[in-house]
Amino acid sequence: MVDSGWQEKVHRLILFDVDGTLLSTNGQAGEALGMALHGTFGTAGPIERYSWAGKTDPQIVFELLAEAGIPRARVERGLSEVFDRYCAHLARMLSPDNTRPLAGVREVLDALARRSDVAVGLLTGNIRRGADIKLHAAGLGDNFAVGAYGSDQEDRNRLVAVARTRALALWGDEFPGTRTVVVGDAEPDIRCARAGGAYAVSVASGKTAREALAALQPDVLLDSLASPLALPARLGADG
Ligand SMILES: [Mg+2]
Repeated sequence: MVDSGWQEKVHRLILFDVDGTLLSTNGQAGEALGMALHGTFGTAGPIERYSWAGKTDPQIVFELLAEAGIPRARVERGLSEVFDRYCAHLARMLSPDNTRPLAGVREVLDALARRSDVAVGLLTGNIRRGADIKLHAAGLGDNFAVGAYGSDQEDRNRLVAVARTRALALWGDEFPGTRTVVVGDAEPDIRCARAGGAYAVSVASGKTAREALAALQPDVLLDSLASPLALPARLGADG
């Protein structure tokens, strides 16, 4: 009898960003947040010219309202109302008609789900409730055993540690260094991977130009998750 127990051990944790990496809401999520900000604070700040990519939801709210001249302490008091309104709008607005997985996503997640040595989770700036609504609208809700969210930390660079803590609780392993893989479409995804000592897979499937991603020298740079070079090998899942 061959003891293949070691092969069963989960030895890599792959963490996916949501917007621009797994799915697109075709602008609906931005609309929903804008309405929530207007409903709570009477303004959404400079939302029309704001760059969202890779930012956490609390960071987005604080930055937009700071530009509208609203003191941070006042924003903090209204934050839970903003997010309650936001999630109510999201749940009403998102559907499979406007919220779809990006190219290659289902295939990649299916391939990873067949591997017993890989654990799959989320690392996203979305608040947890928002991520759940988006993923369920896109039919992707059942793929992620752990997650680190914008509702955990306003600073994305701290989210690798959050994901590792949850992974440790679930699998008894800390997934140190490049055994944690961060997959995302924006510059802050690469930066947070670096901050956590993780492996950075960058996918130019969102709003950030490939050249801007390349400038940060991710470990892997893909045009999309439909690339023939995509998972699992290029996610570092073979080592
Ligand atoms: Mg993104």
